[in-house]
Parts: sequence; structure tokens; C-alpha cells
Amino acid sequence: MSKLDNIVSLCKRRGFIFPGSDVYGGMAGTWDFGPLGVTVKKKIMDEWWKFFVEDREDMYGVDAAIIMNPRTWVASGHTATFADPLVECKECKSRFRADKITEGFSESITTEEFLNTHTKCPNCGKENWGPIRKFNMMFETHVGAVLPDDDKEIADKNIAYLRPETAQGIFTNFKNVVDAFYPDIPFGIAQQGKAFRNEISPRDFILRDRECSQMEIEYFVNPKTWEENFEKMRKLQHDFLEGVLGLPAKNLHELDVPAADRAHYSKRTIDFMFDYPNGEGELMGLAYRTDFDLGNIARESGKSMEYRDKITGETFTPHVIEPSIGVERLFLAILSTAYTEEGKGDDKRIILKLPEELAPYKYCVSPLLKNKPELVKKAQEVYKKLRKKYGNVTWDDSGNIGKRYKKQDEIGTPKCIVIDFDTLEDSTVTVRDRDTTKQTRVDISKL
Ligand SMILES: [Zn+2]
Repeated sequence: MSKLDNIVSLCKRRGFIFPGSDVYGGMAGTWDFGPLGVTVKKKIMDEWWKFFVEDREDMYGVDAAIIMNPRTWVASGHTATFADPLVECKECKSRFRADKITEGFSESITTEEFLNTHTKCPNCGKENWGPIRKFNMMFETHVGAVLPDDDKEIADKNIAYLRPETAQGIFTNFKNVVDAFYPDIPFGIAQQGKAFRNEISPRDFILRDRECSQMEIEYFVNPKTWEENFEKMRKLQHDFLEGVLGLPAKNLHELDVPAADRAHYSKRTIDFMFDYPNGEGELMGLAYRTDFDLGNIARESGKSMEYRDKITGETFTPHVIEPSIGVERLFLAILSTAYTEEGKGDDKRIILKLPEELAPYKYCVSPLLKNKPELVKKAQEVYKKLRKKYGNVTWDDSGNIGKRYKKQDEIGTPKCIVIDFDTLEDSTVTVRDRDTTKQTRVDISKL
């Protein structure tokens, strides 16, 4: 089994991540977070929110609706250009993203370029392709009362989309935030939430799924200062990823995206790549979006998106630096950093070396023996006390001590506390460390 397979298996076995709609045979490109997974995911999102919003004076948070006025997507260019190059094998009818089954091509690959690569169908091995067609990745839905037998015109009028990015929920609130707070520039608006992309071929576990959680900031700057602010945002991402979350710098690589591969709105983009277990992949993007979005909104809505500098009186449409990160990708980067195997055979140990702030539980409390009421009573006392103090503390009296340690190692609990007969005499407990397996005696009052 590959390391990724091992992580997927651990995630299911221990209740971090399950395949979406598992009981009905699954739903491609969707994943459900289980009890431990949702805890870690929330912690990651909370750390981000604290670092980028709460601890800063130049950031404002919003939580916009997922279903937005469809004019949003006309203005943003998504209706016209949020599309992947779809190619169909005429032999077996399988559909693929042309740029994903060839080497060195971007989304702008043409039919001619593709046919010249003489790519064989990954499914049937033949080479008999139809032309490349543009496939729009937005999920369509209908808003309001639309009946199945309504004609197309009525149905089309009611079309809306599940947002393909959280960014537009920020841009469309730019004027609201400025009017309500009149912040000094530069300032940012941040949002966390779901975004939806109808991926042609979802794959790689939670790396490329059809529904994901994004954390995005639009940082509004005076156009004259975009470069220094781009640099500031770039550095902040490293401070967060390495400093707060503990991702190893050696596994993070910056890729300056060449013009041909950049999104239609961007003048400069850095992709932050990460060494996942199955190879290098995108973790997050940092894009200079110019005034593309505010300009589009001004045109489409007829409302001014200009900002007036409080000190100089200068009036301009702000430009934007956008750090954008997918929570699931970040989750996988953290899991693959933490996943460790030690020893061999019967001594083999799987450990999830999560940073303490991200582990589902801080402590696991257990009585040495389950069938000794005095031990259980004392252990319950300690458990309740710690739970009140820290919240994320778990109880485990199943199996023997060895089995409990094994389980807690696998879910990343940093410390296991065991109440034994000595505890009843001297109020000390055994504290066993996840990473070193070292055991120390600690006074209960010191926990
Ligand atoms: Zn085929």
C-alpha cells in the first residue's frame, strides 16, 4: 500500500474522513468528515481565522450566501471562461480533461495540440478522440418555482449557480464594508466557506473534489503599492503554513505561474506547491487580480467601486492581492506531514504527529484496569476535571493499555494519562508521551 492509501485507510478506520454517501455506494468527488476529522478541520479553520482576521487590524470577515445573483458570474467571467477542456474517447465514451492526460499542457490546449500528442485513452488504450469541448464547471440549479414541464425559457430565467469560489461573495460586499467601516487602505476582507466545482475527473482523495471549503482574502491596495503588498501577503502565508501549522519548509515550493497558465484575471500568481505522498500538488494560490473584479462589478452594476484615500484625497479603484487556500488540501498536507510509521512487524507503530493545537484530543484518560471500581472512580474524577479545563479530552477504558496507546497514537493524542494503584496513594498519574512513548509520573494538580 502507498502512503496515501495508508492515510485514506487510517482516516476511515479512525473516523476522520469517510467517502461521501458511503452507504449508497458513494458519490464521486465528495467526502464526509467524521467526528475526529471535523474537529481537526474546524481547528485548522479557526487557526486561519485567528491569524488572518482576529489578530490583525486590517482585516474584516464576511460570510456571504452560496447562491448569488447570476449576474455575479457574468461579471466575473465565470459564465464564459470557467471551463475545462473536455475530450471524449469515441471508443469507450470515457471523458477526460485533455490537459490532465497529457504532459506539459494547460487548460488552453487546442484540439490540434492534443491530437498531436498521440495520447492513448487511459481507460481502453485506444487512440480515437473527438474534438476538445469547453465544459463549464459551475453547478447549475434553479431558484424558485420551476416545474419539470416548464419550457426552457422559463427554466433558464431561474438558473442560478452554486458559487465556484468564495471570492465573489467578498467583492460584491466591498462597497458595503467600505460604507460601514471606511477602513484605511490597504485592508482585506476574508471569508471561509464552501465552493463547488463540477470537476470532470475528481481524484487524489480530497485533493480534487467537487465540493470544497475555501479560505480566501481579498486584500485591497493602492495600485501603486501592489508589489510590496504582494510580498507582504506572500510572507504571511509562510508564517501561517510553517509557523502556525508546522508544515515543513522543505515540502513547500513556490511556483511563479507563467502568463499562459494563469487564471484570466491575474497579472501575477504564485502557486504554493506541496509534496503530498503521491507527488507534488497545489496547496494554495496567491494571485494579483488587479482591479479586474471591482471593475467588472462597477460595469455590470453601474455602481462606483472607487475608494477615496482619507489622507491624500486620491480616488481610485483598489487593486487586489488574493491568497486562496482549500481547507481539504491543507488538511491532507497536515495529515501527510503528521503520518509516521515506526518499527516493524508486531512492533510497528502508526503515529499521527499532529501539532497539539490541531490534535482532536489533548489528553486521553484511562484507568489501568477497567474492573477495579476504585481506579475507575479516581480516573473519572481526573477526566472530568481535565475535560472542564481543556474541553478536548477523551476517555478510553477499552482493551488493554497497549491497545489504548495504539489507538491514541493513531488519532494523534499527544498525552495519555493512566490512573493506577499508586494514584490512590500519592495523587500522581502516569503521563505517556505520544512521540517518544516516554512515561513520567506527574502530580494530578500539575496537569
Ligand atoms: Zn477509451
